[in-house]
This record gives sequence, structure tokens and C-alpha cells, in this order.
Amino acid sequence: MTDLTRLTAVEIAALVAAGETSAVEVTRAHLDRIAEVDDRVHAFLHVDTDGALAAARAVDARRSAGEPLGPLAGVPVAVKDVLTTKGVPTTVGSRILEGWRPPYDSTIVRRLREAGTVMLGKTNMDEFAMGSSTEYSAYGPSRNPWDTDRIPGGSGGGSAAALAAYEAPLAIGSDTGGSIRQPGAVTGTVGAKPTYGGTSRYGLVAFSSSLDTPGPCARTVLDAALLHEVIGGHDPRDSTSIPAPVPGVVAAAKLGATGDLTGVRLGIVTEFTGEGAEPGVLAAFRESVDALAKLGAEIVEVSCPNFTYALPAYYLIAPSECSSNLARFDGVRFGLRVGDDGNRSLEEVMSMTREAGFGPEVKRRIMIGTYALSSGYYDAYYGQAQKVRTLITRDFTAAFERVDALISPTTPSVAFPLGARTADPYQMYLADLYTIPTNLYGGPGISVPCGLSDGLPVGLQVMAPTMADDRMYRVAAALESAVGTFTPPAL
Ligand code: GLN
Repeated sequence: MTDLTRLTAVEIAALVAAGETSAVEVTRAHLDRIAEVDDRVHAFLHVDTDGALAAARAVDARRSAGEPLGPLAGVPVAVKDVLTTKGVPTTVGSRILEGWRPPYDSTIVRRLREAGTVMLGKTNMDEFAMGSSTEYSAYGPSRNPWDTDRIPGGSGGGSAAALAAYEAPLAIGSDTGGSIRQPGAVTGTVGAKPTYGGTSRYGLVAFSSSLDTPGPCARTVLDAALLHEVIGGHDPRDSTSIPAPVPGVVAAAKLGATGDLTGVRLGIVTEFTGEGAEPGVLAAFRESVDALAKLGAEIVEVSCPNFTYALPAYYLIAPSECSSNLARFDGVRFGLRVGDDGNRSLEEVMSMTREAGFGPEVKRRIMIGTYALSSGYYDAYYGQAQKVRTLITRDFTAAFERVDALISPTTPSVAFPLGARTADPYQMYLADLYTIPTNLYGGPGISVPCGLSDGLPVGLQVMAPTMADDRMYRVAAALESAVGTFTPPAL
């Protein structure tokens, strides 16, 4: 019998639509797989067994009634715990929201439900999406299915690990500085950050509002594209949502899968292919570049000199926005409240709640951000960082006059061992060195598996102009057609 957990979303949807399997059978197979392996992977913070089976039964009923089903109907999906889910716990990986059951669905989750996908549960993440390994989750780290002594990336490591462990064929992530693409790279899965404003932030717990972008995670490029079209597009409830249709990413992925890149010009970012990257990562990247050239792409080197300043600029802008966004967690409105014994002042209760509810990395970011925004320092820090952001955007604009898309390794290194970087925040931050420029610019970026280094996955990143998400899917699908997909050793 076919193992339903090994299929792509496309294959599952086809079987369900043809009545060769039911959405309930598919869902049970994935729930069984979670029960079998998640004590070793810890991809999930919450498994919604009853909700998933109810959603699956609804799809099966619609099919029996002869109603039309969408392209992903009956396909299970794991959702990063940063998105609100009505009545289902949403913690953002933090103690401060422990036990909170939101009264409403985020737009992404609402669209997933309307499309007939089956939400299996909520995935683990670094607290408030700050981190690159899931080790900053208040609920313990997730593990990389390729080697359970290594990190699955972060902040959306739970979503990526769920895919690589065959616990779910599709997942949702959010990418502020790389949290979809970096976990994708280190788990051998596909992760796409859409154009900023191309996917709705309504119901996404805010970290850095000018950067936060929810997006699709999958094991194949076409599956990611299908998910992208389901969740993307204008949302009047998000003030920065782009009032335009989703770029044709599914058609582009299908075009790319034909393996023809004739006439496509790709620029290798010279700043990201130098000494900073591990030799094994660079070797896999170079081989993929050869593969892209064989498919007909024209390859040129492109210098983006200001990309070098992206990391420091990000670590002023993101903490600044976070220090303001996280002010709402005050022990009054949501989740945890500490010290409210009737004798303490409001200030004391707020302070005790925040002291107990936030972990050390979140506190570090709030402190850095508050400092960078304070009067007298604003121009020197936050103001300078905004100027760097403009320079980075200019690098992208100039590059896209010469090439259709930019490419680089997604990350400087493969998955590192658990515990290797927790004592040194700067080392942790470096995991996002190559993904952050795209966030500061606002364009789309995708990570696609491109090879192995010492048996661990390496990702190639494709970056495209804003609202040209289709371009990056075409290139990623073409590369996938040449190098194939990568399967981890049995857990
Ligand atoms: N690792 C980066 C950070 O810690 C990016 C996180 C993200 O994209 N959410 O901020």
C-alpha cells in the first residue's frame, strides 16, 4: 500500500479528488506519523487531532456531494505557531502567550480552511520568531530529521522539520530575516518568502512589521507554488497588503519544471560566494550553477556592495520595531499575568509578567530596540539603518537592470549541532547573512535544495524583483528538475 505521508501535495490532492483515498485516510496517516516520530523531532507545539479530522470529513462530504474541490483540498498542512487560529492555542513559542486561544483566524489560516486543506496543528518556533535554530523556543528545540543532534533552522524550524520528517506535506512559515528560507535550506526542503505585502499579516503576531512576511513551505517547488496561490493576494485587513493578484507562481513552477531556462539571466551575488561560506556549501552551490547553465541560463557575476551592511542594519531595524510591537504583552490583554495579588501596582504586575514571560533573546531585542529608538540615539542608529536599507534597495534595483534574478547559497553553513551557537548571539545571527537583504528590500526569495555537504542539505537561494515571485519559482523548479529532491535517512 502507498505510504500516504511520502506523497507530494499534488499527488494527495489528485487521489482525494479521484476518490482513490479519502481526506480522512490521508489525515489519519499523517497523525499516525506524528505520533510515531514527533517525540524525536518535536516539530509540533500543538496537534489538533479533532479539528483536523473534522476538516477532513468536511472535504470528503463535499466530494461525495459532487461539489468542486480546490487544488489542495484534503491536503494536510502544519502552521507555524505565529499565526492566530480560532480556538486553537497560539503561543508564538513564548510563555507569555501560554494557554491563549485566539478568538479569530488569521487571514492565511482562514484561506487555508476555505481551500479545504486540513490543519494538523501548530509548529514550534523561536520565541516571537527571533532566532535561527528553534533553540529560543520556550518549549524546547525542534530537531533536524537529517540528524537529530542538529538544529532544523529557525525561527520556523518546526514547520521545516515537519516536512522533512514526513509529518506534513505542506507547512506555513513567516520570514522576517530568513525564517522560512534558512530552515528550508538546512532541512532539504523548499521555503519561499513572498514579496512583502503579497501575503497577509492579519493575525500574524507582529515581530518587525515592515519585514514580516508569511509564506509557503513544502517538499517540492510546485507544492510550494500551489500553497502560495492559496494563501496569497490582497487582504483589506492588512494595511500594507498589495492590491494586486498573486503573481502566476504555479504556471511559472510548471514552466520551470520543463527544464528550459533559455533566455533567463541569473546573477551570482559575489559578496555571498566568498570566504564566509563553508567549502561544502560553496561546492554544492557551484555545481548547481553549472546545472542552471546547462539548462540554458546565462550566468553573470553581480556585485551588491551594500549587502555586507544588511545584517547590522537588520539588527537595528528589527529590534526597534519589536520593542514597539511587543509592548502589547503587558499581562492585561493576553495570556500570562504574574504578581496580580491585589496589592501590587499595574506597573509592578506588568514588569513581573514581562520578566517571567519573555526569554533572554526577546529581552535582548527589546533592550537593543528601545536603545536604538531613544532620543539622542535615534539618528545615529535607527536613522542610519534606514539609510542602509535604501542603499540595499538600490543595489537590488541596479542588479535587476542587468539580470532577471539573483542567486546565492541560502545559508553560509549546513545545519549546526544543537547548542553550538546559543552562547554567542552573533554566531546565531550570522545564519541569516544571505537572506536578510531580500527582507530589507521587500522582494521575494526562495530556497531550493541543491545538494549535500557531508550528508547534510544545502539550499540555493533565488531572489527576484518585487512582485516577480513567478520568476524565482521558474528558476527553482528548473533547478529541482535537474538535481532532484533529497530524502533524509530513515528516522
Ligand atoms: N534569524 C533572524 C532573527 O533572529 C530572522 C528571524 C525571522 O525571519 N523571523 O531575527
